[in-house]
Amino acid sequence: MTDDLTIYVSGLYSGTNPQPGVGISRSLRQAYPSAKLVGVEYSNRCSGVHWPDFDEIWLQRPWTELNLDLHASSIKERLDAGGFWISSIDLEIMWLAEIFPYGHPNLLTPLMGSLTQVGKPAIPAHQRLPVKIPRFVTTDLSDWELHAFCRENDWKVWLKGPYYEAVRTPTWSDLEHWRKVLSTAWATDTLFLQSHVTGYEESIMLSAYRGNLLDCVYMRKRDLTELGKTWAGDALPVAPELIEPLRAVIRELNWTGGAELEMVRDAADELWLLEWNPRFPAWVHGSTIAGRNLPGKLVEGAAGIPAAPVGSTSNEFTRVVIELPVRAEFPLSPLPEPLGGAVGHSMKHPSGLIDFAQKLRDDPHKKAKANGNLRRPERFEAIPESYLSDLQDVKFAELQTPAGLYFENTAKQIFSNAAEIGRSHGTHINTRYAYSIKTNPDERLLQLALESGFLAEAISPLEVKKAITAGFRTEQIVLNGPAKWWRREELPAGKLHAVFCDSIEELTRVSTELENGELDSEFVGLRLRTPNIVSRFGIPIDSPELFEELVTSIRKMPRSCRFGVHFHMASSNVGVRQWRHLFKSMLRWCGTLEALSNRVIECLDIGGGWFPEDMHHKDASIYSEILSAVPEYLSGVSELISEPGKALAQPTMAIAMSILEVRSYLGKRSEAVMDGSIAELPMHYFHPHRILSQDKNGDWKALKRGSSMLLGRLCMEHDIVAMNVELPESAKAGDVFVFCDAGAYDRSMSYVFGCG
Ligand SMILES: *Cc1c(COP(=O)(O)O)cnc(C)c1O
Repeated sequence: MTDDLTIYVSGLYSGTNPQPGVGISRSLRQAYPSAKLVGVEYSNRCSGVHWPDFDEIWLQRPWTELNLDLHASSIKERLDAGGFWISSIDLEIMWLAEIFPYGHPNLLTPLMGSLTQVGKPAIPAHQRLPVKIPRFVTTDLSDWELHAFCRENDWKVWLKGPYYEAVRTPTWSDLEHWRKVLSTAWATDTLFLQSHVTGYEESIMLSAYRGNLLDCVYMRKRDLTELGKTWAGDALPVAPELIEPLRAVIRELNWTGGAELEMVRDAADELWLLEWNPRFPAWVHGSTIAGRNLPGKLVEGAAGIPAAPVGSTSNEFTRVVIELPVRAEFPLSPLPEPLGGAVGHSMKHPSGLIDFAQKLRDDPHKKAKANGNLRRPERFEAIPESYLSDLQDVKFAELQTPAGLYFENTAKQIFSNAAEIGRSHGTHINTRYAYSIKTNPDERLLQLALESGFLAEAISPLEVKKAITAGFRTEQIVLNGPAKWWRREELPAGKLHAVFCDSIEELTRVSTELENGELDSEFVGLRLRTPNIVSRFGIPIDSPELFEELVTSIRKMPRSCRFGVHFHMASSNVGVRQWRHLFKSMLRWCGTLEALSNRVIECLDIGGGWFPEDMHHKDASIYSEILSAVPEYLSGVSELISEPGKALAQPTMAIAMSILEVRSYLGKRSEAVMDGSIAELPMHYFHPHRILSQDKNGDWKALKRGSSMLLGRLCMEHDIVAMNVELPESAKAGDVFVFCDAGAYDRSMSYVFGCG
């Protein structure tokens, strides 16, 4: 009877990120030595077609050229003739679920109803299992919201495609780049961003037929490839507390076929479900080696033919790379044009998965529903009210673009909110803001800082001079940074509020000057270099010897001035959660420093680097959190300084640019050349800017996401001021776009370029 058994196995790609077809064939060969195994492929570039366990290869035209209806009917013929089909291609599985809405006894893949329950990223079926789903958002959200999600999750996020592929995007420009690559490749705008979970990767592989869990195995990755795929692992029984809920879910889902649940176990021993793949994993044969032949169990369950029992010699498996003779009927083809070794995106999937995704997208009868679990809200960018009121005051007719706009109402509102937040805490600690001059030295902002009762934070004597000119007294100046004595002759005389030294050398020199009366300051202290996160600033403390050296220098400081510590790590770069973590660890270091040096830390300065919304969040929660943490570790702190730069300045200015030319390609409007450039918007690479245009009623609306680019006026390849926007239907030369959120380093670091 085994002699009649024919099993089709698709998905034979066998590179370093392999499909499971070859592993399935090896396991089936053990279970059914005399069965006929037919490998199914859509490209002869998949090296698995040469694997000797296949008795035959059924090679199809590539997905783009394939007549899908014809292919469907010849699959049905083969199933009707008694053949079994195990697919290991996600998209093929989805397509088969549409072709066979009621299944087929010999089709060993899940029904559509089961697939929608395990769709990424929500995986509704997880609710019945003791696992959690990491936080995620769809990329349908505005850039502004996506950037916030990344900050909240410490930039430890994955951008994921609808079916396949995940890329870590540690910066905004990575995210913009990969969003474009993935959405073009997969022919969809809806990708999603998911928070990374740190921990050990574990999987459950299972085999089921018509809701009956036939077998399952637990695998822990023990060695990984560069892409994080399994290279070695162990295969163990599934724990009883998981197996019963799993059995129930499989029954409810009426699951047929293989599956893999990819999970991460975090430090708190919590399990997070990342993916539920509707097929066997590529390491499937590793489990067979360890005594659990799941493809064998699957065919046994469906065909009722007992699989040959497997022995096991180890419960661990590893991979090797081996060479095979090429089958005479599929000689190697030349490297693809234009160049051998060129790394195009589509070359990563020689089996043409991407082509297939596009074909399914283009075919109105066969819409792949992988992302049925994502809601698709119609979203409009929230534009702060004050921006709109500031725009009303701008006389655009008289404006020579590109032009910087000062949002006066916005600026007033932000400074007064900040003053309110700084005030509204009932503790004995005196909280103060010190406006970072370098972020934007505009006189109007300095004036607002002064009127709001803020200090001014300077990194050079020239900046101090500027603050004095704006009306600050030296007692209101905090001096910081690695080069604060550059052009010392410019430093106005008088007692400063605080000086934070960036090195032991500086601390020693400053101590001497204080003693000699050459320098005077209410507080004198130092900047600590953050351990674990790379920073060029401050005094390193990550070895006992360095720490001791620091303690010795602190002991030598004159007792006449009060001691302080400065710590600065931009939460806009490292994320808010990580900042909190770092802050707590700095407090602990400070506690040790106090104990060993015998000096009380009276002033703590927490630096800048805040994205406006993170610091001035309505409830100012981060502020109260900081304030309640400080006395726990440092009881002597009487003053807490924070040095916001961009948190205050960023929203206060915008850049108006005019369209010079709108370009269409084949009737589609896809580019506009602007008279502004990255010289006026140097931060375009680091954070999103909300771009506004006027509709026909004269109302300002944010540009939506789209496939158009806004090109800068410079003759430079990388001068693109927006990558993914929708050009309004009515846009024409002369129209003005306003790039908001440009009041911090966009202003202070802008440069003159291309103007003769
Ligand atoms: C630049 C700077 C700040 C302000 O940083 P932002 O990122 O603009 O908030 C604060 N403190 C010091 C010492 C700085 O050098």
